Amino acid sequence: MPKIIIAIDGYSSCGKSTTAKQVAARLGYVFIDTGAMYRAVTLFFLQNHVQITSRKSVVEALDKISISFNYNAKTGRNETCLNGLNVEEEIRKLYIANSVSEVSALPEVRKAMVAQQQKMGRKKGIVMDGRDIGTKVFPEAELKIFMTADTFIRAQRRQIELLAKGEMVGLDEIRENIAKRDHIDTTRAESPLRQAEDALLLDTSYMTIDEQVEWVIQLVDQKIASLHRKGHFKEQNV
Ligand code: C5P
Repeated sequence: MPKIIIAIDGYSSCGKSTTAKQVAARLGYVFIDTGAMYRAVTLFFLQNHVQITSRKSVVEALDKISISFNYNAKTGRNETCLNGLNVEEEIRKLYIANSVSEVSALPEVRKAMVAQQQKMGRKKGIVMDGRDIGTKVFPEAELKIFMTADTFIRAQRRQIELLAKGEMVGLDEIRENIAKRDHIDTTRAESPLRQAEDALLLDTSYMTIDEQVEWVIQLVDQKIASLHRKGHFKEQNV
């Protein structure tokens, strides 16, 4: 079966990662949550009091960071590791969400993360979700999807997620965080969040995760069939 790159971008809490993870599992592809990488960098910066206004401090700190994903056979989930330590739970907390967009806007941080992400996708067969995957990381991705959803619904979803992890946060605080992150992510100078011209728009406001996954899988099938017809996979020998 020929393999492609699937880029899923969009606003916070639209269900990008959940959808991407399930699509990857169905196709036997690798799933990469790039938001987790920026969250891990943010955790390191906060733990080590890195001055984000100092380019030198940021570059020095980035040199000390190694991010990897470990598959946990017990839970069947990928865990984000920062310098070998499992930080999966910690990076999902609201205090990280409150700082991650400022950290992600730094050009040095983006350069380091994008380089790692491009390496991960070299062999194709990858589903990567984030904010700049279709525009910057893999502008040549065969399939690009841009997700959006109503802000109130996104906040409700995030509240349920946090609650499941034992963090009780009011809806207003979550809405504020989502709005702030959307604003920083869409207006930053370096690779702002935007829909790539060739990305397909998916509004997940009234869709279940199963429906979202089916929608993407159908597109993948159509895309692969169309690329086959065009002889796109000849170099992959499939
Ligand atoms: O996807 P998630 O909400 O975990 O992403 C956290 C933050 O990381 C985003 O709000 C954004 O600021 C940043 N991010 C980014 N580029 C990516 C993925 C995430 O700037 N490719």
